[in-house]
Order: sequence, then C-alpha cells, then structure tokens
Amino acid sequence: MGRRWRLLYDRQRAYNGHCDDPSTPGKTVRIARRLLHFPRSRMEVLIHEFTHAADWSKDEPWVDRFAADLARLLCAEGFRPKNLTPRRQGAKKGI
Ligand SMILES: [Zn+2]
Repeated sequence: MGRRWRLLYDRQRAYNGHCDDPSTPGKTVRIARRLLHFPRSRMEVLIHEFTHAADWSKDEPWVDRFAADLARLLCAEGFRPKNLTPRRQGAKKGI
C-alpha cells in the first residue's frame, strides 16, 4: 500500500495499541510493551492497529471484529506468535 508507520513498543497503560492518523508526520503505531509477554494478544493488536493504517475509514467496531477474527483464524491454521524482546522497537513497517 506504500505507506509506512513506525512501530513502537512503549509503556502506555491507557490502551493496548494506537495508530496515528495517516496525515500525522512521523506517524507511529504504538503497542503496549506489556503485550510482548502475551503473543496472542500482541498479534491481535498488531492486526488491529495496522488495519487502521491500511484503511483509516473503517470504524472501530469493524476493525475490532476483523482483527479478532483474523487472529483466531491464523491461530486455528497453526500460526503461533512468539515472545519478542523489545529490540524491534522503532522498526519501520509498511502497509
Ligand atoms: Zn482501533
């Protein structure tokens, strides 16, 4: 899709993830660092936030259902997210 967001794991406590509006300079997807210890939740939140990045017009309930359904499907198909250390913090991720 040709757009890029910085991926940052931070110590936020108010929510699990956040995606900046596509018009934000230096736009960033933030994932709660605590989710590094919960791979299944981290996968769902990553799908959720990067779905916002891919199509900002989708509303929150649609994105929430899509992320939950895709995460469930991927797990049922045998994909298993693994624990990560925070070394990937700040990596650029494209959509
Ligand atoms: Zn959302």
